[in-house]
Amino acid sequence: MTRRISILGATGSVGISGVDLIRRDLDRYQVVALTGGRNIARLAQQARDLRAEIAVTAHDDLLGELRAALEGSGTIAAAGREALIEAAARPADWVLSAIVGAAGLAPGLAALAQGGVLALANKESLVCAGALLRQAGKAAGATILPVDSEHSALFQALQGETLDSVKDVTITASGGAFRDWPLERLAAATVAEASTHPNWAMGQRITIDSASMFNKAMEVIEAREFFGIGPDRIKVLVHPESIIHAVVSHHDGGSIAHLGAPDMRHAIGYALNWPERRPLPVAALDLAALGSLTFRQPDERRWPALRLAREVMAAGGAAGAVFNAAKEQALDDFIAGRIRFTDMAPRVEATLAALAGQPGFGIDPASLDEVHHWDALSRERTAA
Ligand code: NDP
Repeated sequence: MTRRISILGATGSVGISGVDLIRRDLDRYQVVALTGGRNIARLAQQARDLRAEIAVTAHDDLLGELRAALEGSGTIAAAGREALIEAAARPADWVLSAIVGAAGLAPGLAALAQGGVLALANKESLVCAGALLRQAGKAAGATILPVDSEHSALFQALQGETLDSVKDVTITASGGAFRDWPLERLAAATVAEASTHPNWAMGQRITIDSASMFNKAMEVIEAREFFGIGPDRIKVLVHPESIIHAVVSHHDGGSIAHLGAPDMRHAIGYALNWPERRPLPVAALDLAALGSLTFRQPDERRWPALRLAREVMAAGGAAGAVFNAAKEQALDDFIAGRIRFTDMAPRVEATLAALAGQPGFGIDPASLDEVHHWDALSRERTAA
C-alpha cells in the first residue's frame, strides 16, 4: 500500500534531503503536498519529480511564477499562508515539518490534527509551543517523531528503556564556525564567516545558530519537550567530529551512544521508515579511518546561549516563545549588519528579562494566538 506523504519546507536543506529519499523509492509513496518559500524553480521541479498533488509557496506574489512553472504537470499551484496551512492539513500518513523558524508552527499544528506521523525538524515549534503541540498531537492520536539528528539519536538510544533508569542524556555540538577562535575575535565575526560549518551542510540560519550555539540551546529545550527529561539531566558536549550525536547514560553505569556520519538523511529516513529500519543512502561508519574522537566541555563565555537555555527552561510558560522570537530577530539583525555577532545573546537576554514581568509570562501559551502575541512582543523588544 502506498503511503501519502507531505513535505513542508521542501526547498530547504532538510526538505531537499527528504525529497531525495522519497524520489529514490517513489513507488512506495503518493506525494500530497510540497511547500516552499521563494525558490519557485526548485519547488516546481520537486513537484514534477515527485508527482505531487499540490505545491504551495508561502508568498502570494509568487503564485503566477509557480503556476507557470507547473503548467502541464498536473500539480495544483497555490500561494500564501492560508494555502500553506490548508496544504499541511490535507490527509497524509506522514508529514515532514522542515520550514525554518516560528513560521513552521501553524502548518505543523495543521498537519498534526490529521492524526498521522509528524516528523519534526522544525525545532522552533517545540521551543515556542511544546505543550500546545503535544496536546494537539494527543487529541488527534498523532505521533511526533524527532528529525533533529541529536533527538533522533536520543530517540533511538532510548528504545526499550524507561526514563527512570536514565541518569542523564548528552547531546553533542560540533562547536560551529568559531569553536577555535580567540574570544576577543568574535565581536568582529562576519556573516560570511559565521555561515560556514565544519561538518554539516545546512541552511544559513541554523549554520549561524551553530556558531553562536543558539541552535544547541534550542536543542536542549527541544530535548526537554520531546522526552520530558528535567533540564538538570540534559548535558551538552563539544565533539568536533560530529560522529556521536547523543549519549544516554543510565544509573547502572552503562551509556548508550548513537553514532553515524553527519548526514541528515539518516534521521529523516529513520523517521520515514519508523518503526522499521530500511537501508538508507548514508555512508557507513568507518571508525578505523576516523582513528579518534575528541570531546570538550562547552565554554559558556564563548556560547552564552547555553546558559540562556537553562534560564528559559527554569522560567517555563511563554519563555520559549519569547526566546525563539528574540533569537530570530537578533539573527535577522546580525545578517542585515545592524548588530555584531556578540550582540545577539545580550539582546536575547535583555528581552527575556524585560518580558518576564508581563502578566501571563509564566503560563504555557494555550493557542496559536497566544504564541503569536509573545512572539510579536519579543521581536519588537529585540529589534535593533
Ligand atoms: P532552510 O533555510 O534550508 O530551508 C527552510 C525552508 O523553509 C525552505 O523550504 C524555505 O523556502 C521555507 N521557508 C522559509 N521561510 C518560510 C516562511 N516564512 N513560510 C513558509 N516557508 C518558509 O532551513 P533548514 O532546512 O536548514 O532547516 C529547516 C528546519 O529544520 C529548521 O527548523 C532547522 O532548525 C531544522 N533542522 C535543520 C537541520 C539541517 O541540517 N539543515 C538539522 C536539524 C534541524 P525557500 O527556501 O523556498 O525560501
